[in-house]
Amino acid sequence: MKPKIAFFDFTSCEGCQLTVVDSLQTNVGLLDMVEIVQFREAMTEKGTDYQIAFVEGSCTRESDEDRLRAIREQADVVVALGACAHLGGINAIRNIYSIDEVRDEVYGDKGEWYETYQPRPIDAVIAVDAVIPGCPIDRDEFIAVVTQVLQGREPRIPDHPVCIECKLNETVCMYLRGEICLGPISRAGCGAICPKYGFGCVGCRGMISNPNLESMEEVLEQYGRTLEEARAKMSMFLTYQTLEEGES
Ligand code: SF4
Ligand code: SF4
Ligand code: SF4
Repeated sequence: MKPKIAFFDFTSCEGCQLTVVDSLQTNVGLLDMVEIVQFREAMTEKGTDYQIAFVEGSCTRESDEDRLRAIREQADVVVALGACAHLGGINAIRNIYSIDEVRDEVYGDKGEWYETYQPRPIDAVIAVDAVIPGCPIDRDEFIAVVTQVLQGREPRIPDHPVCIECKLNETVCMYLRGEICLGPISRAGCGAICPKYGFGCVGCRGMISNPNLESMEEVLEQYGRTLEEARAKMSMFLTYQTLEEGES
């Protein structure tokens, strides 16, 4: 019997699901190995019997928690798909404001009509077995992780900094070009694509397990940049983690 797979979306732009559709078009062999029972972006069926769940998007409402727990209860393996699910991501930028301020700003005097709370990654609510990082995810990494899960292996994602891939690309460092880059502390696996095209890394794949923050500070100092500037870069994808760290 083929393993049954389901895809779920929470608060997200659905770009990671689109990347999945895209990667399946060129890896059709995978479709022979699994049965997809639920995938709103690609089919209308909504099967509830599955072993592997891919979850895209952040948890942004209390009612999301019940849905996440139901998915966790059903699935043997839960995989966080993309930065929104993995990190809280862009949705969590607003966590620097109180929920009342956010409601007022977005909904005005109708704030109470809409359910919302501080966005968070899905592992703040349920146990997660694997992560496919990035905004959006990398199509080849998606196929690699699915293959490893199907083989019963623990998925392996890179745990070294973006700088290593960047050096291999022989890209001129963004610091030498007068820009800040989070490459020294961010998880590789994207081929250091942002510096390659002239943008500093903003850490969409999250931080490596043991980021050398002291060295990062030294680099900032060496190039006359400040920790505040680096924190501003980190706010795009790592606000949830930064705030949690501040509280612990
Ligand atoms: S991680 Fe990025 S591409 Fe994926 S759903 Fe979130 S915002 Fe969209
Ligand atoms: S700091 Fe950024 S641009 Fe410089 S080597 Fe590292 S990843 Fe590349
Ligand atoms: S360079 Fe940084 S921001 Fe760009 S894709 Fe890689 S991890 Fe994400």
